[in-house]
Amino acid sequence: MYIEVLQPTYNMRNFLFILLLICSSHAFAQTEQTEQTEDKFQSFYNAEKYDSIFSLFSAETKKALPLDNITAFLQNMQSQFGPITKRQLIKSEGKNASYKASFERGTFIWNIAVDKHLSILGFTFVPDKNARNITKLQLPFKGQWDVVWGGDTKELNYHVQSEAQKNAFDILIKDNTGNSFKTDGKHNEDYYAFGKELTAPCDGEIMMVIDGVKDNVPGTMNPSYVTGNTVIIKTVNNEFLLFAHFKNHSVKVKEGQKVKQGQLLGLCGNSGNSSEPHLHFHIQNVENMNMATGIKCYFDKLVVNGELKTDYSPIQKDKIKN
Ligand SMILES: [Zn+2]
Repeated sequence: MYIEVLQPTYNMRNFLFILLLICSSHAFAQTEQTEQTEDKFQSFYNAEKYDSIFSLFSAETKKALPLDNITAFLQNMQSQFGPITKRQLIKSEGKNASYKASFERGTFIWNIAVDKHLSILGFTFVPDKNARNITKLQLPFKGQWDVVWGGDTKELNYHVQSEAQKNAFDILIKDNTGNSFKTDGKHNEDYYAFGKELTAPCDGEIMMVIDGVKDNVPGTMNPSYVTGNTVIIKTVNNEFLLFAHFKNHSVKVKEGQKVKQGQLLGLCGNSGNSSEPHLHFHIQNVENMNMATGIKCYFDKLVVNGELKTDYSPIQKDKIKN
């Protein structure tokens, strides 16, 4: 029997956040002084004073981006991702500055250009296509597991077709003969992975929990609830760790709860779009999977095929353990 899982989800994000970036000869090098504009933008955005943000625009930007449009765009950002909680300068070159902007429920690269009067010429919020986790992660289980899907190519990882799940892993347990079950594989209980404890890879906050989705009979899927029983953890670096397919009624954490590395989240199961018990795990830049871009996942310290590795991103056929 062969596995796996997550249907590709409809993808609408990228164009949504690319608003406008006007290149202008009036722009000049970013200095500390110009950060005043970003500070104002951020505090107006958080206070939902979108007309005050509009007032920061240069005359030509105001023409290109009418108040109604900018308000609708920023309201949408606010409702999807919440306020900006942190802003870190990544680079400033010539007329542009780029920041890592952490929202309550997402992380984006914020590019902004200002002119010599500190008026905004343009800005974008875009996902970081090459992002990887900063937070140190350990594997979320005990013992040795097998990576069935993982890696950067479609041969190694069918998830690459999905924007949110492109760096996902499907992981289960196989015996020496390569089977993932003990006898005939007809029941979930026959599978080595079923009911195994899944734990937090790092400290974080539980952002979302789904439980109550029935486990499938092996070989059948439940596309109505793609991720099945699900937990999303937000790390201190604003990475969103998504675990899918927990066993029905096994999730041990609640939304809003703080968890510690190694803390029990729930048990491995076969709920959602899953054909046999396994763990689907990936990291994304925002909480909402339907709007997310995947983040490449490296584990800090793990044993891969018997060899100790640090800062390693597993691929298909790896046998991995802590
Ligand atoms: Zn998967």
